[in-house]
Amino acid sequence: MSQEHFAQSDIEEGLLAGLWRRPVDGFVWSRDYKSLSDPRDSGPWLIPIEKSGWERYPVLQHRALLDDFISLGKNPTARRVRARAKRYGPLGVWVQIEPHGGGDVVLGESLHEWQWHSRAVATWSQLFEWLERGDATSLSPFVRWQQRPVGVGIRIASLNGRPDGNLATRVHVSSDYTSFGAMPQGAFWDGGMLASEEYDPERILTELRYRDSIEPIRLYLHMRVNQALRERITRTILYPSREIRYFPVSLLGAIYVRLQDHLTPDSRLAERRCHYSGCRNLFIPRRRDQIYCSRPCRQAASYHKEARK
Ligand SMILES: [Zn+2]
Repeated sequence: MSQEHFAQSDIEEGLLAGLWRRPVDGFVWSRDYKSLSDPRDSGPWLIPIEKSGWERYPVLQHRALLDDFISLGKNPTARRVRARAKRYGPLGVWVQIEPHGGGDVVLGESLHEWQWHSRAVATWSQLFEWLERGDATSLSPFVRWQQRPVGVGIRIASLNGRPDGNLATRVHVSSDYTSFGAMPQGAFWDGGMLASEEYDPERILTELRYRDSIEPIRLYLHMRVNQALRERITRTILYPSREIRYFPVSLLGAIYVRLQDHLTPDSRLAERRCHYSGCRNLFIPRRRDQIYCSRPCRQAASYHKEARK
């Protein structure tokens, strides 16, 4: 990692903080370890190949990142996870693991973690696709309205990354949504109460139409992606420009940033590059049609255009 070289312009453009690391030689799977934090997780564990060098790359510039993760979620086998990890690096959800016979503690990533997140992202993006099409029929099995007291909950089940209404209705959910009963291999499930008359501090129910199954799903997706980004975003001051930027701190953070962009109609918060040739900094636009980062840049650009005439 010591022989990395970045131009000052790379750093100013925020590439440095948006860079993620991957081992050049990739990873191996191993079952020879146990987790120090969760004894129930028996692995296997994804471990960087020993003595592999690491390289950095600008993760947010990979346009296919979200699609790649969605397609992984439809069939997250160990072999396919390893291939994705070689391309994009670790998720950034390391746990300390120790050899069964004792020995040095190393860092590894659990297959379960890769499977859970990739299935979640595949499931949520399919729900969003139905939502965008206004397909209430496909969404209704996952939305639970209750009458007395009025309330709305979500119950999601998916198989191979595809939400499955039959599976969702078959699943037994305890009243506090902590137990979901037995699920088949490759299933993902999730759920919870969005709001009820008895507990609705955000006044969500006033925004929803009774028995609607579109907007509750939208609300659920927003809650989940916001929750996933908690502690996966950092706020950084760049040197020497002193600009403030938000960056994902891990591959998983970058994936959820992309999913959040995907859920946002005009991706207002996606960074773009200032059109003024003397600036070219990334900025977060306040309007959809904004092409300059600031008033001075807009003025400078129009001045130079006039000067050329
Ligand atoms: Zn500018």
